[in-house]
Amino acid sequence: MSKNQQLFERAQRHIPGGVNSPVRAFGSVGGTPRFFERGQGAYVWDADGQRYIDYVGSWGPLIVGHAHPDVLEAVQAAAARGLSFGAPTEAEIELADRLCALLPSLQQVRLVSSGTEATMSALRLARGFTGRDKIVKFEGCYHGHADSLLVKAGSGLLTFGNPSSAGVPAAVAADTLVLPYNDVVQLEALFERLGDQIAAVIVEPFAGNMNLIRPSAEFVQAMRSLTERHGALLIYDEVMTGFRVGLDCAQGLHGVVPDLTTLGKVVGGGMPLAAFGGRADVMARLAPLGPVYQAGTLSGNPVAVAAGLATLELISAPGVFATLTERTTLLADGLNRLGRELDVPFCADSVGAMFGIYCAERVPTSYAEVTASNRERFNRFFHAMLDLGVYLAPSAFEAGFVSTVHSDDDIEATLEAARSALRQVK
Ligand SMILES: *Cc1c(COP(=O)(O)O)cnc(C)c1O
Repeated sequence: MSKNQQLFERAQRHIPGGVNSPVRAFGSVGGTPRFFERGQGAYVWDADGQRYIDYVGSWGPLIVGHAHPDVLEAVQAAAARGLSFGAPTEAEIELADRLCALLPSLQQVRLVSSGTEATMSALRLARGFTGRDKIVKFEGCYHGHADSLLVKAGSGLLTFGNPSSAGVPAAVAADTLVLPYNDVVQLEALFERLGDQIAAVIVEPFAGNMNLIRPSAEFVQAMRSLTERHGALLIYDEVMTGFRVGLDCAQGLHGVVPDLTTLGKVVGGGMPLAAFGGRADVMARLAPLGPVYQAGTLSGNPVAVAAGLATLELISAPGVFATLTERTTLLADGLNRLGRELDVPFCADSVGAMFGIYCAERVPTSYAEVTASNRERFNRFFHAMLDLGVYLAPSAFEAGFVSTVHSDDDIEATLEAARSALRQVK
């Protein structure tokens, strides 16, 4: 039995399913999850000493790679001054100032500890600000695991949502309306019918939790104009896309100013930190200024803030994002070429430093299209890549991430591995 297998058996004794977040269990792809001992730059090493080129990067945060010396130094210095105070610190102001300078839509921002907390708080704020209860989300978008957001579409057109998890009250789910991504006609029809009851539309501005899916320009425009016209707020959930698709995030690429934005992942540089912010008149409704309650014992934690500041500093340097985007494009182009060369239904797409791999003839545009891709072939491709030392997300429905320390050689080695893996699964 490998050390990974031994650890997985041992883990299951006292941890449900052996993991602290479900996708880590390899349930979708099968096999034994890798237990990691160490990460350095673009690489991770598992318990059996096997090295992998890492395209998960802790699900997005590690945009400067594992154990970047500048991030480590900042974290160690902050930790030595105190792990937590539960009182304000100057570094929180620096991070808030920096975020507001990077994103024109942010006039005020509040720090929290996870993406789930950020979206949950943004929704409460939107409801408190508008005095309305209903929210709109899109099929296949993931916004963390708050009750209001663990909701799937009901049957039939324009019905109210159903819980997608046990334990979510039907009454809570009923206030979440779920529509297909990129469907402008249904979005217009929904606002026509219920526009005066909708507090907010929340969206992944490039979807990254159903593999990578781009929004159409019309869809982006419809969300902005319909929410504006009907007095609802537009929430860009940039927990994944924030400082991942570009320094000015998805909203910069779209040329859209959302009312509220949620951030996480990259913003914490690998530490538990997230944020939500936006219009000053909306943020002023938040306690202690206003009636919408929100709080956190470890919010704005100084060690996490130090990691976030150091990471943002590194990716703000001139040329960094251009190089990152180029390398990610190199990877996606190479994968597309392999699909054509080997004549398999296999393609890729990328935005900034995130990418999607699809076992399909062409890049999908909706959840329905993504779920129609060949999952069984993806699973075999995933395991072939793993055996060849490339760690991809263990699911056909997740995006991949490139860091500033993935070199051209790493991309080249990955494409070589993909050629051999695709031959095996053909
Ligand atoms: C990861 C993610 C979340 C949840 O963040 P956690 O830190 O895991 O709670 C929310 N929204 C999006 C778009 C995400 O990718």
